[in-house]
Amino acid sequence: MGNDGGSIPRRNEMVKEKKKDEKADRKNQAIAQNYFCALSKLPLQEPVVGDELGRLYNRQAVLEYLLDRTVYGDGHSICDIQSLKDVKTLNLTPNPSKKSSSLGQPAAQFVCPITMKEMNGNSGFEFIWSCGCAFSAQARRELPDSATCIVCDQAFVDKDVVPINSIDTEVLDLLRERRLERRRDREEKRAKAKSKARNGKRKNEDGTDEKRADKPDLKSSKVQKTTA
Ligand SMILES: [Zn+2]
Repeated sequence: MGNDGGSIPRRNEMVKEKKKDEKADRKNQAIAQNYFCALSKLPLQEPVVGDELGRLYNRQAVLEYLLDRTVYGDGHSICDIQSLKDVKTLNLTPNPSKKSSSLGQPAAQFVCPITMKEMNGNSGFEFIWSCGCAFSAQARRELPDSATCIVCDQAFVDKDVVPINSIDTEVLDLLRERRLERRRDREEKRAKAKSKARNGKRKNEDGTDEKRADKPDLKSSKVQKTTA
């Protein structure tokens, strides 16, 4: 039975093999992610949106998910989309060719508008969070001016660049950090706008006395004392 006369595989060799398999699995998964919506698992179909971790979804699926978080079963473990603010509608370039690759991989739905490389998971693609344009990482590297989008010319900053379907854990950690930062910024802006609106309302209600709410309300504290 087994290993007759052969050498017994050493533990570290087996671990190495397992790691190789896991890496190949992750790579295959990454390729599939460029063809299918991460939520509905249906083929990507425009309008396509990207989240802050670079995952792709059909916009329709995200809308359905926001209405009913159980519609795709494990939705909450796939994504952390709380509103449409957590996704960006992408400006993708449809692939003019429908030919499969020599390796039998189906033709990608989208290509890089600069290099015409297919978005099939074999090479890095990115999109810009501020404008939504998507292209190959190679196109951006080869063009000298990275301060404006190479498709729509809109200005962007480095942290707006979102690699699509990255499997690099360090990259994903960085993207999570940026997502947290954006959410914090949004929260701060909302709180500021709210307090501004409240102050404006107070001014309208009783002229110029903005600080009134900060002073103790004598009437109500008296009432409280007598009822206590
Ligand atoms: Zn753009």
